[in-house]
Amino acid sequence: MSKLLEGKTALVLGVANKWSLAYAIARAFTREGARLILTYQGERQKETVEELAQELKAARVLACDVQQQQEIDQLAHTLRGDGGRVDTVMHSIAFANREDLSRPFIETSRSGYLLAQEISSFSLVAIARATSPLMTAGGSLTTLTYLGSARVVPNYNVMGVAKAALEATVRYLASELGPQQIRVNAISAGPVKTASARGIKDFSKVLEAVAQHAPLRRNTDPAEVADAAVFLASDLGRGLTGNILFVDAGFQIMGL
Ligand code: NAP
Repeated sequence: MSKLLEGKTALVLGVANKWSLAYAIARAFTREGARLILTYQGERQKETVEELAQELKAARVLACDVQQQQEIDQLAHTLRGDGGRVDTVMHSIAFANREDLSRPFIETSRSGYLLAQEISSFSLVAIARATSPLMTAGGSLTTLTYLGSARVVPNYNVMGVAKAALEATVRYLASELGPQQIRVNAISAGPVKTASARGIKDFSKVLEAVAQHAPLRRNTDPAEVADAAVFLASDLGRGLTGNILFVDAGFQIMGL
């Protein structure tokens, strides 16, 4: 059977460990025959990501802290020298200070607000600017968002505001990059227990509520998010751009 990403080079940002959504996505990209390139943030993560990269049969592992413009420039420079073409980019990066995911939203600090926006939303602009010139045969850029962008989810707070900005960013980038046949979409994943999610106060209550009320009466499996990412990265997704695709067991349709 032919593989959906055969012949494509995929850059995946945001693998921190085996629980990362980006890890599930990278596995699915490898399964579908993509040539995989991973990034890590800082020396602290390097060894872990290199070990995971071996297991995932990644071709390369490169540094990229999205707060450091020179690291983004260096990433683009290395990719240009390394065959020069990228077909798909998976942006799976977000961060907010833990205290901003537990105290009342109104107490969000100026620096905490800006930090969440920079890492979780602006980084998509920076990555799109660096990688779109390498998508010489067209391509696909996908990010991960959450329902907390449009609805109030307790303690999601500043990250909900960052995700709202991220989703608007998807639409503006999709509009500008469309003429180059570069598609930009987001997957809105249901809650999954990852290192980032654990930083949100009472996150287990969110998981319980979803399992009770989602139409499919269960939580989201990372493999489902990964398969949707394959679809968007592959030629099967060729007609989609500017979309927010919900992979959440249907939870987002519910009023009560
Ligand atoms: P995760 O494993 O903790 O992944 C978050 C990633 O962001 C980590 O690899 C982290 O690297 C990286 N990151 C943070 N700051 C960075 C920076 N300055 N430069 C580069 N990378 C940076 O958690 P996850 O849940 O899989 O999150 C992935 C994406 O899915 C996020 O956008 C998240 O908002 C989104 N999402 C998650 C859920 C959920 O319930 N888990 C639901 C919907 C959407 P370090 O660990 O090295 O800091």
